[in-house]
Amino acid sequence: EQIAAPVRTASGEWTFDNTPDSDPALPANQEWARRITSRIATSSLGRETAAASRISDGERLDDLVTQTAKAGDAWAAKPARERAEILHRAGVELGKRRGDLMEIAAHECGKTLDQGDVEVSEAIDFCHYYAEQAKDIEAVEGATFVPSRVSVATPPWNFPIAIPCGTCVSLLASGSAVIFKPAAASARVGAVLAECLWAAGVPKEVLRYIQVGERELGQRLMTHPEVDRVVLTGGIDTAKLFRSWKPDMRLLAETSGKNSIIVTPSADLDLAVKDVVNSAFGHAGQKCSASSLAILVGSVGYSKRFHTQLVDAVKSLVIDYPTNPLAEIGPLTTPASGKLLRGLTTLGSGERWTIKPRQLDTTGRLWSPGVRAGVKPGSEYHMVEYFGPILGIMRCDTLEEAIEWQNATDYGLTAGLHSLDADEINYWLERVEAGNVYINRGITGAIVRRQPFGGWKRSAVGAGGKAGGPNYLAGLGEWQPAEPSRPNGEVVLRSRILLDARKVAERF
Ligand code: GLU
Repeated sequence: EQIAAPVRTASGEWTFDNTPDSDPALPANQEWARRITSRIATSSLGRETAAASRISDGERLDDLVTQTAKAGDAWAAKPARERAEILHRAGVELGKRRGDLMEIAAHECGKTLDQGDVEVSEAIDFCHYYAEQAKDIEAVEGATFVPSRVSVATPPWNFPIAIPCGTCVSLLASGSAVIFKPAAASARVGAVLAECLWAAGVPKEVLRYIQVGERELGQRLMTHPEVDRVVLTGGIDTAKLFRSWKPDMRLLAETSGKNSIIVTPSADLDLAVKDVVNSAFGHAGQKCSASSLAILVGSVGYSKRFHTQLVDAVKSLVIDYPTNPLAEIGPLTTPASGKLLRGLTTLGSGERWTIKPRQLDTTGRLWSPGVRAGVKPGSEYHMVEYFGPILGIMRCDTLEEAIEWQNATDYGLTAGLHSLDADEINYWLERVEAGNVYINRGITGAIVRRQPFGGWKRSAVGAGGKAGGPNYLAGLGEWQPAEPSRPNGEVVLRSRILLDARKVAERF
């Protein structure tokens, strides 16, 4: 399966055409889906690479970091054009292994086929986008970009293909060598991803794929004097832990979220129901971007039509393991426990189940989605991220109040508004506190280049551009005035897409 190359349009924009129409419900794709699903249960993909990557010895780890730093120097010295060629090829390699990546993400993390498919597409977009940005960064006049020498990429298991790929490829494009440490729950997906990057021509010494079992070794890696940058996507507690290990760590982290969609009486209610349901329950709610709250304004809170449609939509979802190609809600990656189990089984004061979640088998992983009504402002459910298939409903009188509740959490990752009233939209845009805001659309599924992704408030740690956006690479290294320096040290930007890099350059 070949992937179309990125195309630059006359206006200088890039377009990508790499999303095959692979809805498994379509007859044309049923054979393909059947082949993938028949292999999921017994998949052995990535096993050898993963087994060979385990490090349990501190000295070996130190040695590996030093070797990586040396190999990184040659990588950084390559013209951006050469690194870009390799990373464009990585996009093609990922496309060739689209089915493999979907298979192993389903096997290891419970990703349904539709969710795995779009994730591969996003990963491919990252390759092409950052490959081109590497050239743009190099073309900046009046300043030189100095990449990190060795960076550690520590991505999560919930987007086991796209996030590790975006993190590793952006760092590689910037000229840094990368030590890629996948989440334990998605180590074999990470192995297949690393295989794709190596097949494209990224040297194995420049992209290391390692697993470190013990915490002390993880700490040794993150605080190693030759590691000069850590890029994390994960919980805020992990970011805090890293900081406690090394207060001056150059840490770029996208952390948790507690996100909501506001629906006003002017909204297209059919669309709002669809977007609320998809944003709440896609990948069983295991997305930092998921909407675990719907805040209904005025008459929407009492609208029989809205509630009936919502209940019907949730009840119609196909909940199953990804071996069923039509599954829409798959299993949790690990059995529900702790906070999530509490969220699935208990209610706060004044709350009631509109749809009670049910555990569908003995694994603890497969749950039908739940909807809880009567969530009160300031309650635990309002403030805490559960990371599972639960949607809470809040009712309020005015948009002003809805925004107050939407902003009341410590986080600021995604936020949505459904309204067809321009005044309401503008009012909301001026007040909403989130890194990624969506109007009349679901709030998951940011798109590389079109909707760069990054958090605000406690959803982000460290200053940097948004992933998949024009300033991301510029934030992954240092900027030095070129020699001989211009009289006023001004950075002259040639590339159109880097217009905002001036701000980033000033900050770093
Ligand atoms: N980029 C993903 C999205 O827009 C979310 C990533 C995450 O959950 O960390 O849905």
